[in-house]
Amino acid sequence: MNNVILIRFNEIHLKGGNKKYFIKLLLNNIKTALKNCIYKIETIQNRFVIRNYEDENEIISKLKCVFGIHSISKAIEIKNDIESITKYISSLDINTSFKCDVNRADKTFPVKSNEFEADLGEIILNNNKNAKVDIHNPKLTIHVDIRENGFTFIFYDIIYTYSGLPLDEKRNGLLLLSGGIDSPVAAFCMAKRGLRQDILHFDSFPYTSPQAKEKVITLAKKIQPYIGSKYMYICSMTKLQEEFHVNCKSEYAINLLRRSMIRVANILCEQYKYKTIITGESLGQVASQTIESLTSTNAVAKYPVLRPLISFNKEEIIKIAKDIDTYETSILPYEDCCTVFLPRNPIIKPKIKDAEFEEKKIDLNNLINLIINNIEIIDLEK
Ligand code: ATP
Ligand code: MG
Repeated sequence: MNNVILIRFNEIHLKGGNKKYFIKLLLNNIKTALKNCIYKIETIQNRFVIRNYEDENEIISKLKCVFGIHSISKAIEIKNDIESITKYISSLDINTSFKCDVNRADKTFPVKSNEFEADLGEIILNNNKNAKVDIHNPKLTIHVDIRENGFTFIFYDIIYTYSGLPLDEKRNGLLLLSGGIDSPVAAFCMAKRGLRQDILHFDSFPYTSPQAKEKVITLAKKIQPYIGSKYMYICSMTKLQEEFHVNCKSEYAINLLRRSMIRVANILCEQYKYKTIITGESLGQVASQTIESLTSTNAVAKYPVLRPLISFNKEEIIKIAKDIDTYETSILPYEDCCTVFLPRNPIIKPKIKDAEFEEKKIDLNNLINLIINNIEIIDLEK
């Protein structure tokens, strides 16, 4: 009899011929998440089993960040024979309503699921005066998972995780991370669909403070276990913003800044082979997130811009931010480069040709090159 942690996956089952590939990917991601833990892991049919571990709670909390895992249970592992299972069930001390839930994955096991449920239920009733069966609403469910590998897992609780698809180096993107609430949540949402992301942040020092930058680095580290980021790129927008401020129509400042962010992202995507750009934009949230504003930024994008929060309300975003523990950091009151040189009346319906006209007033290419040449790269895995 062993204490183990049982890991289940679901969507991977639908991957047909690619199932093996996805299982291997998930296994690798689990190993990365648990790289500082002591444990052994085995792949069995449709499950992973973790044994010989030191810190159960640490392992479970790290597994909760791994996309592709459907659920986790702390379980007892017993040999697949009727005597061993009934002996264990006989030892249970149960004083409440219960039901037994048998899953007979091993079809050679001699007793059918519903019969075995009845047999085990009877053993419990005989041994525990205060136990009573409740099929529909039991306080305790005793799960008996009889697997094909010769072992049965008995457990009570199922911890449901975020499911989704395992992160894959082949599906990667560049996240535009600000210090706000939205972009960390956007990263989380795309990672849920298996998109590994590195991070791009723009500051505007000395108009933005070192604390503002530190805050975004903290956010990056908080989302790193979910999104698998290796590098964070920090770019200074100072010179470019000053040029826009002095030379261009102020109502276009944010639109021009957004288009410049995408241009920098294009170059990094090309250089480091990212396939897509991710932002935390949500339709209509602010002037820079109207259909016309998004059209204007899309016009300069050379890669698909994914905006997973496009239909989210702020409360929905905040709920996820709290769940992934980024909210408290995001609300720290430091300024973002979008909030410096903020025009009083930002344009709500920018026109592409007007934005292009404004951009011609400055030496945009040179300024973008300056940004790229002075990029700071942080290795998030160190
Ligand atoms: P957030 O809460 O993520 O800051 P927001 O509601 O404040 O979003 P905006 O400031 O308009 O919205 O930013 C929209 C998106 O543009 C952000 O979600 C982010 O993806 C990107 N972005 C904004 N500022 C920066 C920045 N300084 N560096 C990198 N990306 C940024
Ligand atoms: Mg912002």
